[in-house]
Amino acid sequence: MAKDIDWGSLDFSYRPTDYSYVSMYKDGKWDAGKLTAEHTVTMSECAGVLQYSQSCFEGLKAYTEENGKIVCFRPDLNAKRMADSCRRLEMPVFPEDRFLKAVDEVVAANKDWVPPYGSGATLYIRPFMFGYNSVIGVKPADEYMFRILVTPVGPYFKGGAKPVVVRIPDFDRAAPHGTGGIKAGLNYAMSLHPIMEAHREGFNENMYLDPATRTKVEETGGANIIFIKDGGKTLVTPKSDSILPSITRRSICYIAENMLGMKVEHRPVMYSEVPEFEEMGLCGTAAVISPVGKIFDHGKEIDIPSGMEKMGPTLQKLYDTLTGIQMGRIAGPEGWVHEIKC
Ligand SMILES: *Cc1c(COP(=O)(O)O)cnc(C)c1O
Repeated sequence: MAKDIDWGSLDFSYRPTDYSYVSMYKDGKWDAGKLTAEHTVTMSECAGVLQYSQSCFEGLKAYTEENGKIVCFRPDLNAKRMADSCRRLEMPVFPEDRFLKAVDEVVAANKDWVPPYGSGATLYIRPFMFGYNSVIGVKPADEYMFRILVTPVGPYFKGGAKPVVVRIPDFDRAAPHGTGGIKAGLNYAMSLHPIMEAHREGFNENMYLDPATRTKVEETGGANIIFIKDGGKTLVTPKSDSILPSITRRSICYIAENMLGMKVEHRPVMYSEVPEFEEMGLCGTAAVISPVGKIFDHGKEIDIPSGMEKMGPTLQKLYDTLTGIQMGRIAGPEGWVHEIKC
């Protein structure tokens, strides 16, 4: 039986559900893994994650389609991206096929927590891994915990996506040849000060420029950037090794090119080009697309032509197509929507 929750009034915060998934890596191998009702982790005060931040994570959603099926979106790309993150952090890879099975298992075990179709809410799935045993000399841990927690979250924007204002911060997100391209907690730890400062100054997000030259557009703290030009015919998205490869952004680019007949340019984007664009959006799993209405740069403003009232028409079309595929209203490419048998 579905939990007695007012799904529409949920916000984006953690609430424990019935089960999490856990597997331990020890003596060079992963154990069989299992569901657990224990939502607390006990470990050494000297654990690798606590001392040297050896951790990475993923984020995806399970939701109910119109036909009642519980599904998630392209989880294979999350499995692969987490493997890439682990390799960069000298952590053992949790095998991709086991990652996918674990997602199915933990969602099925918490099926009563999956919000109903039409509520706007979803079950957020957070796989994560961290160095578990004690480490004092700087080196990778020998033991790791892989977990998946799930938690029901409300619609990211209540009452529709209103355009946001981003600012150009004086901080950088990721170093050249650093860890910007992986989903590591450390990339978020260092972004907390810039984002709190942005909020205190009245801005929604930071739009980071490339750290080496500060002339090219990168991304925000947790979302990739897409631009629209040529009267809605072209989508432009920045290319850089220090941008996290967003699954939402890659899916939007595919839809633009293969379903909407647009031209897609994935290339370095000069900050000086931005005034030529008609629409601008931030993309990630949580909000899918958030329109940007204005960029604030040290006293100067760039107004995006689509304005501060609502999402521009091309981003709206991309948003409707992607969410239509996710919700099973529009047929998408083979394998994008993964059904979870409960
Ligand atoms: C997770 C994340 C995104 C969005 O990726 P999705 O796969 O679309 O959710 C974008 N930028 C950063 C820095 C991220 O950590």
